[in-house]
Amino acid sequence: MPVIAPSKSYRVGRSKTGLGLFATMPIKKGTRIIRYFGPILDCRIPAQDDIENKYLFELNGRWTIDGSVRKNVARYINHSCRPNAESDVRPRERKVFIRAIKNIEAGDEINYDYGTDYFKAYLKPIGCKCPSCENKRKKQRAEARAERAKVKARAERKAQKAGAKTTAAKKKKLNGKHFAGKVGRAKA
Ligand SMILES: [Zn+2]
Repeated sequence: MPVIAPSKSYRVGRSKTGLGLFATMPIKKGTRIIRYFGPILDCRIPAQDDIENKYLFELNGRWTIDGSVRKNVARYINHSCRPNAESDVRPRERKVFIRAIKNIEAGDEINYDYGTDYFKAYLKPIGCKCPSCENKRKKQRAEARAERAKVKARAERKAQKAGAKTTAAKKKKLNGKHFAGKVGRAKA
C-alpha cells in the first residue's frame, strides 16, 4: 500500500508563474500526494474528443482525464523540468496520482514533468519558466555579463596603455615649458 499524504500537507499558493501547489509539511519520497482527477473522456466519442484545454491528461490512446474541474486541486501543480514529484499513471484503473520522487520540505513547491507533448505545445513557444530553466537562464545571463565585463576591462587596459604612451610623449615634448610655468607660479 502506498503512503498517502493527508490533504492538509499541501496548499494552493502564489508561485512565480501564477498559482501553484506547495507542501505545508515534509513529504517523504515515494508518498502519494494527491490524485489528479476529473471526467474521463473517450476519444471515440467525437464530442468528447473535441474537448480541449490545458488540463487534459492522456491515460492511453483512448482515455483522457479532463482535469479542468475546480475540485481537481492537482491541476494547480506546475510543470518542472527537474521535478520533485511524478505522475503515477494507472490506465487500467483510469487514475493518476502525483507521487513524491524526492523528500519535499515544508514550503517547497510541488511539481512534476508534464511530458514532451505538453512541453512542445505550451511551454517551448513561451519559454519554460520552471525553476530549473530559470536558473539555467540566470546562469547564462551571468556568464554573458561576466564575458562583457572581461571584454570591457581588456579594452580599458588597452586604452589606458595607449593613453599612457601619449601622455608620456606629450610630457617629454612639453617638459621644459611645464617646468618653467610651475616655477613661475610658485614664485608669485
Ligand atoms: Zn523547465
